[in-house]
Amino acid sequence: MPIERILIANRGEIAVRVIRTCRELGIGTVAVHSDADACAMHVDIADDAVRIGPATAAESYLNGDAIIEAAVSAGAEAIHPGYGFLSESPDFVEAVKKAGLVFIGPSAKAISAMGLKDKAKALMEDAGVPLVPGYHGPRQDPAFLTERAAEIGFPVLIKARAGGGGKGIRRVERFEDFEEALASARREAEASFGDSACLIEKCIQSPRHVEMQVLGDSHGNVVHLFERDCSLQRRHQKVIEEAPAPGMTAELRAAMGDAAVAAARAVDYVGAGTVEFIVDGAEFPSTEAFWFMEMNTRLQVEHPVTELVTGLDLVALQIAVAEGAVLPFAQNDLSIAGHAVEARLYAEDPANGFLPAAGRLDRLHFGDGVRVDTGVREGDAISPYYDPMIAKLIACGQSRAAAVRRLGRSLECTRISGIETNRDFLIRLASDEDIVSGAVDTGLIGRKSASLVQPPEAEALDYAFAALAMLRRECRTSRDPYMMLGDFRLYGPSRQTVRFGEDDVVTVETAGAHRHVRTPRGEVALPDVHWQGDELTCVADGRQVQAHVHRDSRIVTVDRRGGIRRFTLAAPDGSGDTGSADVVLAPLTGRVVRVAVRPGDEVVKGAPLAVLEAMKMDHVMKAPRDGVVARVCVSEGQQVMQDAPLLELDDSA
Ligand code: ADP
Repeated sequence: MPIERILIANRGEIAVRVIRTCRELGIGTVAVHSDADACAMHVDIADDAVRIGPATAAESYLNGDAIIEAAVSAGAEAIHPGYGFLSESPDFVEAVKKAGLVFIGPSAKAISAMGLKDKAKALMEDAGVPLVPGYHGPRQDPAFLTERAAEIGFPVLIKARAGGGGKGIRRVERFEDFEEALASARREAEASFGDSACLIEKCIQSPRHVEMQVLGDSHGNVVHLFERDCSLQRRHQKVIEEAPAPGMTAELRAAMGDAAVAAARAVDYVGAGTVEFIVDGAEFPSTEAFWFMEMNTRLQVEHPVTELVTGLDLVALQIAVAEGAVLPFAQNDLSIAGHAVEARLYAEDPANGFLPAAGRLDRLHFGDGVRVDTGVREGDAISPYYDPMIAKLIACGQSRAAAVRRLGRSLECTRISGIETNRDFLIRLASDEDIVSGAVDTGLIGRKSASLVQPPEAEALDYAFAALAMLRRECRTSRDPYMMLGDFRLYGPSRQTVRFGEDDVVTVETAGAHRHVRTPRGEVALPDVHWQGDELTCVADGRQVQAHVHRDSRIVTVDRRGGIRRFTLAAPDGSGDTGSADVVLAPLTGRVVRVAVRPGDEVVKGAPLAVLEAMKMDHVMKAPRDGVVARVCVSEGQQVMQDAPLLELDDSA
């Protein structure tokens, strides 16, 4: 039965992406939104929009009753859940059906069967799908689980059985650390999923994450749409995904495809789903060294790479299958062409432990040559209530090398200001020699993280551009107390000085259109500087140079050649004024789950002081320097606002 109007029970890029396909198919769309999203992009582009509750997800995007009511009142016949939120809730699926609506996804039974990692594993064992050695039984007492871990052999992974998105996973190297890690995994699991039960798995050394896209219809047909490699992860969260997997052979693909189809058949799967496998990189591409991890019974964040190499629209196929259509192809009709790579661009601060960021996107421009899936526009805000993803950039090419190069280039031309992002981190990943050569494993990013988050060295040109930004006319006429410009003109060129940080002096001599700039990193001649908004173009050393140079109060950011350099104007007293390390502030709004020190304790730089749970993750607050704890301003369990003082440090006695 054809569906004419679909409600999308989601927000952000995935809501926008589903709406786009509906539009192409001539299907009407209804968006839902929380108060925080009243002006969001997905609301603007849908045919109709319904408010479903306040900002917090629990009261809006997780409020199944309100969503179903919205669908009925807006005349939608079907609900597309996107990913996350209610997409894998069997209760929601049942409620949707009860209301006489179509759920675009698998049955509640299939979701339940795969919903908990322990139950899914038991089912897969019966279906003959290979499993990683581990314990996935019902017993949860720490002593028992510690014994099982010792039997399996360290290192082991503790996983929340209700887990997803890498949350609640702990890698444990030693017997002694097991109980503490279990407690922490349980806490995160309880906070994220309301279910603290965990299972244990042997930790595969040099693992690769390879997953198979599957698709089933309601007539018993199931095919796979080949694999995606999602080995490039940070703390178990995918960062870069690609299709096909580097080094994949036809034999391994067929073996994994068969296992994935068997997994889907075991639960009578209808719709698009993903069967995730862990692969031993050291044995790759042996057909004996892959094991089932879990099945995601929904569309994945990374589905676009599959779309680009197969030429298929997965959302259109989901809708067709939900309408009762027979799959329009058999396994043998399907093939892969070229290579696709996706990068997840996030509002987060790599230099600060990848803390999620929130704020307004003052400038947002994506480099061209790639598919961009986003749910925000310039001027929109990344709110603290939801996942801080800004966009997915998906590049394709005839070869893997071409796709990776295109992705890197597009990231370099992407301009974002007003909020910290992981863009530079992604640019470095796209040019990392192991990634370029395809030597990927899930530990790669972790091993290289120090160099991947290192800000690039500022060169003479960066200093010069930062100074020029300060000297633009609108700045010169401002009465900004931080401006410390001298302007001398004695018949010859005008000379102006800007001071950054502690004592980095930049002198700009201007004669007509020509500028000569002295910086702490050397001198540069800039004959012709042209500004358009914050975009600067000039010729330096005979070459055309482009940069995005943005000033926000005392901070100037120079975004040039794959990296952002930041300059802080010296304070009026000439000091760099980098702030005090005496008070440790909450970096985010959240709950203090642990205070690890007491007044009078001596701490060394880097020692853990407290654990803050915010945005569903534990953040360990570390001592910014050696010292003595003078005061603890919070207690365990206390809710704190961003920037609230947590502790005060004194100098050591
Ligand atoms: P989630 O459902 O939270 O995403 P997964 O079970 O899919 O959790 O695991 C997330 C990631 O953790 C995997 O992609 C892989 O990188 C790593 N991982 C999972 N199981 C193992 C294992 N047994 N050994 C090594 N790494 C693993």
